[in-house]
Amino acid sequence: MQNTAQKHLKCTWSFSASKQQEGVIAGWHAHPAIFFEVSILASDKDNRALDSSTALPIHIKRLTKKYGDLFALDSVDLEIRSGEFLTLLGPSGSGKTTLLMAIAGFNRPDSGSIRFGDQEVILTPPHKRNVGMVFQSYALFPHMSVAGNIAFPLKLRGVSAQECEQRVAEALETVQLTGLGDRGIDQLSGGQRQRVALARAFVFGPRILLMDEPLSALDKKLRERMQIELKILHRKLGVTTVYVTHDQREALTMSDRIAVINHGRLAQVDTPEVIYNHPANAFVADFIGESTMLPLAQDQAGDLHYNGSKISQKPSGDDADGWSLVVRPEHLSIMADAKTATDQTIVFKGTVIETVFQGETAFSIVAIDDQTELQVRFGTGSKAKSSYPQAGDTVSVGLGRDDVIVIPGEQRQ
Ligand code: ADP
Ligand code: MG
Repeated sequence: MQNTAQKHLKCTWSFSASKQQEGVIAGWHAHPAIFFEVSILASDKDNRALDSSTALPIHIKRLTKKYGDLFALDSVDLEIRSGEFLTLLGPSGSGKTTLLMAIAGFNRPDSGSIRFGDQEVILTPPHKRNVGMVFQSYALFPHMSVAGNIAFPLKLRGVSAQECEQRVAEALETVQLTGLGDRGIDQLSGGQRQRVALARAFVFGPRILLMDEPLSALDKKLRERMQIELKILHRKLGVTTVYVTHDQREALTMSDRIAVINHGRLAQVDTPEVIYNHPANAFVADFIGESTMLPLAQDQAGDLHYNGSKISQKPSGDDADGWSLVVRPEHLSIMADAKTATDQTIVFKGTVIETVFQGETAFSIVAIDDQTELQVRFGTGSKAKSSYPQAGDTVSVGLGRDDVIVIPGEQRQ
């Protein structure tokens, strides 16, 4: 093993010296994958044994990381369950990578605790955490073959050549790359490279798998297929997985639970259905799906109204300064005749501004007063375009009372 490690170290060195590869290598040196590689090379033999125990929960408590005055993570509490697929979802700069890197051990938080099972790891270096990691840039080793890349973490852990070969073959099969082991990395498509990075991350049987926007470099069709494949792979491996994305649809598609993060704080942690149908606050309602928020007035009895019509009772157990109704385009329907509200339906009267055909669905923009526009989305099916609401039409827009979503805070978009 010592030999292999030394050989590899030499190989990295000679690469660093190569003028031709300077650009690639410069990027690499700055990249955690190299830190990962070097730190494993530096590790002692005891840590090279394969660990094939079952998935682990991750307990994160009051985790804080500051860059200057900026709180990249602001007292984050998060319980990640054993074997679940949890997605960190948030806009760019919200702290997703910082949190993932803290779990991996590539950055050191200022305070707080991270436990894998009952083991505190906050001071444990990355190579002793036994986590698999897929980086956004893949960070594959360009001088190694596909099989060489996948075998790398096994060799560092002192796995015998025979077992290594068998595990690489299994991993190649799992990511549907059987037969491509001898290829060079530059002979692969983006999607195939992504699969190699994935295979390298799980081949050694980590109890935790971390992925930072692993599909963002792929085109839309391939990305959507890989989302399903990753979901299936997760089910097969059963490993606790933390996945980072800024793409809300990707998060909804893949996750057991989603942790929505904004400015280094968790805005909501729940299943995709609850996050979508019961957003806890305006940030989540706005970030996930399409929505319009209507400010509600509260009467003395505690009922909430919009423009004089009753929307719902004030949610119990929660006292906020104000309340807003979250309206999703697909919850609305345009009613042919002038309607009034019923026990089942809330009705908004308005004027169609524009109708847009988008293939499988279309939407109309309806102004319900001078300042407020609703989007109403509907299926197109075999409907002739001429039957769509036309600009200038006066319409009634219905919202089922079952679809009423009320959140704290007054918002106007
Ligand atoms: P995300 O992955 O959600 O896009 P990051 O976790 O990378 O966000 O960054 C969170 C915040 O911390 C951002 O404002 C970013 O500019 C800042 N940040 C991240 N890394 C560093 C660093 N090494 N030095 C200074 N600021 C950083
Ligand atoms: Mg990031």
